[in-house]
Amino acid sequence: GSTMLVSVNPADGAELARFPLHSEREVEAALAGAAAAQAAWRQVPITERVELLRRMASVLRAGKAGYARLITEEMGKPLAEAEGEIEKCAWNCDFYAKEAPAFLADEIIASSASHSAVVFDPLGVVLAIMPWNYPFWQFFRFAAPALAAGNGALLKHANNVPRCALAIEEVMRAAGCPDGLFRTLLIDAGSVAGIIADDRIAAVTLTGSTEVGAIVAAQAGKALKKQVLELGGSDPFIVLADADIEAAAMAAVKARYVNVGQSCVNAKRFIVDNAVAERFVEAFCRHAAALKMGDPLQQGVSIGPMARANLRATLHDQVQRSLAAGAVLKMGGAIVEGPGFFYPATVLDHVTPDMAAFREETFGPVAAIVRVDGEEEAIALANDTEFGLGAALWTADVETATRLARRIDAGAVFVNGIVASDPRLPFGGIKRSGYGRELGSYGIREFVNLKTLWVG
Ligand code: NDP
Repeated sequence: GSTMLVSVNPADGAELARFPLHSEREVEAALAGAAAAQAAWRQVPITERVELLRRMASVLRAGKAGYARLITEEMGKPLAEAEGEIEKCAWNCDFYAKEAPAFLADEIIASSASHSAVVFDPLGVVLAIMPWNYPFWQFFRFAAPALAAGNGALLKHANNVPRCALAIEEVMRAAGCPDGLFRTLLIDAGSVAGIIADDRIAAVTLTGSTEVGAIVAAQAGKALKKQVLELGGSDPFIVLADADIEAAAMAAVKARYVNVGQSCVNAKRFIVDNAVAERFVEAFCRHAAALKMGDPLQQGVSIGPMARANLRATLHDQVQRSLAAGAVLKMGGAIVEGPGFFYPATVLDHVTPDMAAFREETFGPVAAIVRVDGEEEAIALANDTEFGLGAALWTADVETATRLARRIDAGAVFVNGIVASDPRLPFGGIKRSGYGRELGSYGIREFVNLKTLWVG
C-alpha cells in the first residue's frame, strides 16, 4: 500500500497534509514505551490517575475552537456539531474523573474467608482501532475510562483523519499524560494484525464496520485477547399510530441527518404505522427540506460533505438499488456535481425489507420509510435486521412502549427520544453490531482484570 497518510478536505477535495507512516522501529518503540509506562501507571492510585482526566477535559475545552475546526476540515461535519463533539469528550473525561474511583472500588463479598472481595486491576495496554466519523469522541469515549482504570493505550485511527489523530496526541501531552502511556500510531490497516498478536498488547477495542469487526475479532481471538466491538447499525425509529407526529418527525430528521448521517446510531429505518404514515412523511420531508447543505464551516449549515468519495459512491449505489426495487423517491437521491463529496438529504418512501436501504447499513443522509400495520408488524420489522445497536419508539402510551421495548433486539431502546450515547449510560450492541459495552459503570469494567481476592 501507500507509505503516506493523506488528509483531504471533503468539502472541496483539496489535500490538506500528508504524513509518512511510522516505521517498524517507531512502532516497536511505541509498544515498548507503552508497556513500560503502563507498568508504572498501574501503581499510581486511581484517585491520582483521574487527575489526568481532569486535565484532559481542560485542554479539550481550552482548545475547542481549533480542534473543532480540525474535525470539520478533515471529515466534513458541520462546525457546531464538531464543537459539540469536543464538549462531549470533555464531559466524558470529567464524568470518569469523578466516578471512576467508585466504579472500581473493591466489592466485598462474604465467603468462608476472613476477607474476600472483587478488586479491579488494569489489563495492560489496549489497542484502539477507531473510525473517522467522530474522530475525537470515539477515542476519548474509550480512553477516559481505560486510562482511569490503569491501562495504557495505542491508537490506530482511520487513515483519512491523521491530523485529528496527531491532535489527540497533542491533547494528551498537554494534559501531562506520562511519557509513552499513550501514542498515536500512523500505520495502515495491514499492520494491525501483528500488533494485536504482540505480547505487549492486552486487549483490543474497535469501532467501525461489521466487516472489519469480524476480521479484528478473528485476529484477537487467535491471540486470545479481550475485545470490545462497536460496529454498524441500522437502527429502527418506530412511530406508532398514537404518537405525536410533529414531534416525532422533527426528532426523526435530527436522528437521521446528524453527522451527515454517518453515525452508527443514526436512525436509518423509519417504521411508521399506516394510519399516520402520510402525515409523518409530509412532516419529515418538510423538516428535511429545511436542512441547509453547504460549507460545513459556515454557520447554519447542517448537511456538510460526506467524509470520503467512496462512502458517497456506496451510499448512492444503495439508493439506486432501492429505487430499482420499487422505493419511492421523495427528495434528494442525486450526487451533487462539483468539488467535494456532497450528497443531499434524501428520503425514500415505501421501502420494504428486501431493499438495500432496509437490509444494509446506510451510512449517510438517506432515510428509509417503511409503512406497517400496527405494533406487531412494527416490532417484527424492527428486529428483521442483522444489526442490534439502538432503536427509538414513539408513542403516547409509555406503558405500551416500555413493554414493547423489551421485545426489541437492540443494545438500547429510547422511548420518545433520539438514540445517543451518554457517559452515564452503557452503550453497545448485540448481533452483528458487536459486543461489549462502552461508557457508564459497565464500560469501565471491560478493560479490567476482575480479580478475586481471598484472605484466609
Ligand atoms: P472501516 O470499518 O473500514 O474502518 C474502521 C477502522 O478500522 C479504521 O481505523 C480502519 O483503518 C480500520 N481497519 C480497516 N480494515 C482493517 C483491518 N483489516 N484490520 C484492522 N483494522 C482495519 O470503516 P470505513 O471507514 O471504511 O467505513 C465503511 C463503512 O463502515 C461505513 O460505510 C459504515 O457502514 C461503517 N462504519 C461504521 C462506524 C460506526 O461508528 N459503527 C464508523 C465507521 C464506519 P483504515 O482507515 O486505515 O482502513
